[in-house]
Amino acid sequence: MQLYSVNSGNFKLDGGAMFGVVPKSLWQTTNPADANNMIDLTTRCLLIEDGNRLILIDTGMGNKQSSKFYGYYYLWGNHSLDGSLKKHGFHRDDITDVFMTHLHFDHCGGSIQWNHDKTGYEPAFKNALFWSNKDHWQWATQPNKREKVSFLKENILPMEESGQLNFTTIPTGDTLINSELGFDIFFANGHTDKQMIPLIKYKEITVAFMADLLPTVGHLPLPYVMGYDTRPLLTLDEKEKFLNIAASNNYYLFLEHDAHNEIITVTNTEKGVRLKDIYTSQDIFQ
Ligand SMILES: [Zn+2]
Repeated sequence: MQLYSVNSGNFKLDGGAMFGVVPKSLWQTTNPADANNMIDLTTRCLLIEDGNRLILIDTGMGNKQSSKFYGYYYLWGNHSLDGSLKKHGFHRDDITDVFMTHLHFDHCGGSIQWNHDKTGYEPAFKNALFWSNKDHWQWATQPNKREKVSFLKENILPMEESGQLNFTTIPTGDTLINSELGFDIFFANGHTDKQMIPLIKYKEITVAFMADLLPTVGHLPLPYVMGYDTRPLLTLDEKEKFLNIAASNNYYLFLEHDAHNEIITVTNTEKGVRLKDIYTSQDIFQ
């Protein structure tokens, strides 16, 4: 098995929204804000090459929205999904499976593109199966009023219409062992219903794709929960449980949204679980 870090583009979000009830005087030390109170973020996907399968975890925002839409997110830098795949010697048509942690636009927007004459939408990975789970699919396609702006139907419905949509099994506990994709999956319900966190066994280590369970290093302290989370107290419990397991087992936490820290390990301290070491993907994925 080989792993590749695939940056599909950088953006910014309001720092206050990213840290919920935590005051700026505390979060700005790890996540400095610009003049508009926006903080640096990225959409870092993970590519898994395993035998005949080439699995892409999340696909970023894509490029089919209006410039007005992207204007809200202050895109920066020159990374793109195609450019990052190419750097590793791959093309999007090589992808056999697209696994989506959840269906918020910054995680699955790249899964769907305009068709050639811009009259409709089509899967952006023509040879891939798309993976979600049944409960989250229902949650996303009949959205509540809070999350409606994040679940864009043009990002979601074409996967089903093309016949490429598949669902993973939903476990009775919180972890699905040996999923249809080959890796274990931790299910978390605080950010959105049934977000999926892949736990990938790579050589002697476990790499956890943290998605929105831990967006940046600055979110390690338990109460540092995003304002976007639908069930913040549940996120707090899920983070506590997950981070304790991660510290005890020395998981390598792959951070999808942290623009400046790619992979971290964590350790138990008297204040709770805190940062241990920071790595680049080149350090770990050799
Ligand atoms: Zn999200």
